[in-house]
Amino acid sequence: MSTNPTMRGVVLPGNRQLEFRDYPIPTPSHGQVVLEMKASSLCGSDLRAIYRPIEQGHGPEAYQGVIAGHEPCGIVHSVGEGVSRFKAGDRVVAYHIAGCGVCEECRKGWMINCYDPQRRKAYGWQRDGGHAPFMLAEERTLVHLPDELTYLDGAMVACGLGTAYAATKRAHVSGDDRVLITGLGPVGLGAALLCRALGAQVVGVEAMPERAQFAAKLGFKDVVSPGDGALEALMQLSNNKGFEVTIDCSGNAGARHLCLEAARDWGRVVYIGEGGTVSFEPSPLLLHKQLTLHGSWVCSIGQMEELVEHLVRWNLHPEQLVTNTFSLDEAKEAYETFDAGSPGKVAIVF
Ligand SMILES: [Zn+2]
Ligand SMILES: [Zn+2]
Repeated sequence: MSTNPTMRGVVLPGNRQLEFRDYPIPTPSHGQVVLEMKASSLCGSDLRAIYRPIEQGHGPEAYQGVIAGHEPCGIVHSVGEGVSRFKAGDRVVAYHIAGCGVCEECRKGWMINCYDPQRRKAYGWQRDGGHAPFMLAEERTLVHLPDELTYLDGAMVACGLGTAYAATKRAHVSGDDRVLITGLGPVGLGAALLCRALGAQVVGVEAMPERAQFAAKLGFKDVVSPGDGALEALMQLSNNKGFEVTIDCSGNAGARHLCLEAARDWGRVVYIGEGGTVSFEPSPLLLHKQLTLHGSWVCSIGQMEELVEHLVRWNLHPEQLVTNTFSLDEAKEAYETFDAGSPGKVAIVF
């Protein structure tokens, strides 16, 4: 009897621990492919909801002890029966949630909003993710990665940049706009890159000096510190008009409030930063300013297809958001670096 070949995968049991476990190399069933991983980046939500918590939750959204990593990018290694759009050797990025494929939201391409809690599974949360040499994926979650883009570009698209892109779509960002982005972590900086590519002028708010410095390196020099005087500084930077678009990427209550305060009359406000809370007076801050307030969560797979096409057209490489790369064997150092507050994105490369 021959033994199946195995691989090492990373599991995050919580309380800032990281374990390597052995797994059989997966084989694809009908409609599935096996990806050879090339880049697998770390996301803020991995830190917030999986890496740091003392105990893992057990709800449908909870991490279920699988191989971690929900920002996978790689090459199709093998395909199962019935797979028609992808073949071995194709470069792909995976939309990070496999929905049931047949509910209303899945049919619209919004697998993040899938209505079937049993069949909706995110890579790295409820099914094995990208922190291993191979990953089993559903064909319906794959997007072709154009030759012009790198695997790290693709990994950025899988979650964070896709989320940022959806926010720009919700607010219809264009060259007409001055955009305020609060929170210049990887998602906020990704939004800044996209808004600039769309022709908008970008101003940021960021508390961490290292992140403000990294933003400046990417050409975003108008960055204000939060707190007293922030609103005044922002009004000066907008010629005392306020911002046509404001996007909160921090999840911070003060920043969310500032997005409403600094928005110009008739402006569009988008919240994409997760967690936390906010309270505000609707009359002066929302109603009387005629604002539109959007909540936006991830993106659709259609938007992801559109995004990779646009990145090529704009000659925009989101891998510039990556400040630290590690091998899979160094996954522990990767998480520790990200947890310590790296200015940009941290990724595992293969
Ligand atoms: Zn994510
Ligand atoms: Zn569904």
